[in-house]
Amino acid sequence: MAEPDPSGTSTGTPTSTSTGDPAGAAEPASCDSCGRADADLQAVHRVYLFFDRLGAVTGEQQVPDVERWCLSCRTSYPWQPA
Ligand SMILES: [Zn+2]
Repeated sequence: MAEPDPSGTSTGTPTSTSTGDPAGAAEPASCDSCGRADADLQAVHRVYLFFDRLGAVTGEQQVPDVERWCLSCRTSYPWQPA
C-alpha cells in the first residue's frame, strides 16, 4: 500500500499581510490612573496622603511625575494641577 507522502506539498503557511493598523494615530488617550479612554483628561500631579491610626491626614506628598487623569479619578483621588 503506497500512501501519498504529504511532505513538501504543505501550503499551510499563511503569509498574512497584516496591513499595519495605524494604532496610536487616532487612538484616544487613556487615563494614567485607571486606564480608561476618556476625552476629559487633565495633566495632574498625583498626591499621596498619609494618615495616622485614627484616619486623620498627617501629611501629603506630591509626585513630580505628570499624569493624565480622567474626571472620575480626579474626583476620587487627591491631585494637584500640573
Ligand atoms: Zn481615570
